[in-house]
Amino acid sequence: MRLEGIHHITAITADAPRNVDFYARVLGLRLVKKTVNQDDPTVYHLFYADELGSPGSDITFFEYPGARRGRAGAGMVHRILWRVASEDALDFWEERLRKEGFEAAREPGRLRFSDFEGLNLELAVVETDDAVLIAEHPEIPAELALQGFDAVRAYSAEPEASRRFLEEGLAFKPADEGAYELRGEERGSFYTYDQARERGIGGAGTVHHVAWASPQEEHEAWRQRVLEAGGSPTPVIDRFYFRSIYFREPSGVLFEIATIGPGFTTDEPLEHLGERLSLPPAFEHLRDQLEPVLTPLPDPRARESVG
Ligand code: ZN
Repeated sequence: MRLEGIHHITAITADAPRNVDFYARVLGLRLVKKTVNQDDPTVYHLFYADELGSPGSDITFFEYPGARRGRAGAGMVHRILWRVASEDALDFWEERLRKEGFEAAREPGRLRFSDFEGLNLELAVVETDDAVLIAEHPEIPAELALQGFDAVRAYSAEPEASRRFLEEGLAFKPADEGAYELRGEERGSFYTYDQARERGIGGAGTVHHVAWASPQEEHEAWRQRVLEAGGSPTPVIDRFYFRSIYFREPSGVLFEIATIGPGFTTDEPLEHLGERLSLPPAFEHLRDQLEPVLTPLPDPRARESVG
């Protein structure tokens, strides 16, 4: 049994309209689901991904309006890496970000920057046979677009403390320089530690958790594996678009294992993903109360958008 790399990454935003503008318009991802936080349905849970809403490309945000900025520290993911095809793609993104007022640091093969709330992001030129997971955007040629996740980097006070759990429990494979590779039948990703003693503070611009992908039929077995490795997984939670378990790994990072499917076309057709507010069945009866209190959002694919 092997995990199929990153399923999704969930972070926190204090400003949902700007979040849509940055991830859908500037970075060119597709807003594939506009739903509510299942623990507090008066605020959004926004999902951005490739054109098909594929696991491996999906970054999601909990909206905590007015939340203070957090700071990544020990026990938190501090950087998200997407794949791009080439140095030409990095040229394009460096220029596009600069025009939008975002400074980016360029090195051979990589471009580092932060979103408007300080969340650290990186584009990396990666050669891989994995499927290219891109979204369509009128200003971003397909060959330059973000292609799905490559990795997340986390801070740990003592990375060694996680080694056994990751290798024996989750079948992560040690790779170079503090990195582990998870690679399944279809996809792979990297998980890398950087040393940090200081604890982080959750808040806007920080990652809440990273989810790893499991085929649906292996999900229950993964829960068993986590238990046997000494972890404390939650029961299986039905997130409607996928099923999930959550647990902290020994360095303190919140992990989720989520099923590949049923997916975002469960409650709306592919061509209209993310356009209207999606409410899981248990929340549908609240629609009339929720729609007026949720923050109005821009439509990232509005036809008559002006330059
Ligand atoms: Zn999640």
